[in-house]
Amino acid sequence: MKKLISIVIPIYNEEENIPILISELEKVTNALASYSFEFIFVDDGSIDTSVKVIKEFTKKNKNLRLIEFARNFGKEAAISAGIYEAVGDAVVIIDADLQHPPKHITQFIELWEDGAEVVVGVRNNSGKQSRLKQLGSMWFYKIMQRISHTDITPYATDYRLIDRCVVDEFNRFTERNRMTRGLIDWLGFERRYFYFDTPERQHGEASYTMTKLISLGLNSITGYSMAPLRLAGYLGIVVLLVSAPLGLFVLIEQYIMRDPMQLKFTGSASLGIAVLFLVGIVLVCLGLVALYIAQIHTEVINRPLYVVRRKRTQTHTEGQLLK
Ligand code: UDP
Ligand code: MG
Repeated sequence: MKKLISIVIPIYNEEENIPILISELEKVTNALASYSFEFIFVDDGSIDTSVKVIKEFTKKNKNLRLIEFARNFGKEAAISAGIYEAVGDAVVIIDADLQHPPKHITQFIELWEDGAEVVVGVRNNSGKQSRLKQLGSMWFYKIMQRISHTDITPYATDYRLIDRCVVDEFNRFTERNRMTRGLIDWLGFERRYFYFDTPERQHGEASYTMTKLISLGLNSITGYSMAPLRLAGYLGIVVLLVSAPLGLFVLIEQYIMRDPMQLKFTGSASLGIAVLFLVGIVLVCLGLVALYIAQIHTEVINRPLYVVRRKRTQTHTEGQLLK
């Protein structure tokens, strides 16, 4: 029996990219005749004609499956849904905007056959990203590597191949705030890296806006590390180390030695400074704690990660709607 490779593609407003992507994918998969393939498109609540375009293709290509979300749940949820639905011996995750060149699937599979359980696509360049995004991602990786125990490779993308054993473990994750890359890295397994150049996005606009990226970054910092929480503690210690001798100094100089240095501290001035300082610390700590509580909150209410409107799978006989 041929090995089955599932290709998971999250889609959000990609009507112009889909036909190009499918033809590129077909080129690659046709050349790999010793494997069979299924394409799992996960429509993440697109508001353009993406769904219609994909449905057209399902008529021609029986290996094409479509999962439609009831609304936009974000790329991470879309990828998780695709991975969950995949039945292949390995799953390849790829962006629809052709920034992850499909031709590399061949090399991914070679590495997999060579024993890799996770093949990670790593960007050689950051393409034509804005300077702000580049700087942002550079700092993000620097901070993450410092503070988390998970080994996160800079410029590693979501373009990955994962073996069935990794897929099964991945499906056990229950958290809602998720970053697919981070979770796969956390799992470990035998990893290999594949370096590729990112071409520019073909059509449409990158829908990961700066705010979405920042919130993804913040989520992964609070999700993978307790360092910010400890930071509050460190801050408190530093402030104590500064304010305690200062207070002692004022006490001794002013009240015990009767101001030999003629500094004439007024009581309310020193009190005011001390109070402001302490209020600052308390607010910082509260803010940090709030970040964690927010995360606990989203995990505890235990909502489903996504909502599927319908699934469409072309069986060998006829198109069939799965309930
Ligand atoms: N995407 C998605 N849901 C979203 C945003 C994006 O499924 O809310 C998909 C999008 O269609 C594409 C992939 O995720 O296939 C990467 O998106 P994008 O190019 O906007 O992100 P970037 O390249 O900046 O990481
Ligand atoms: Mg992109």
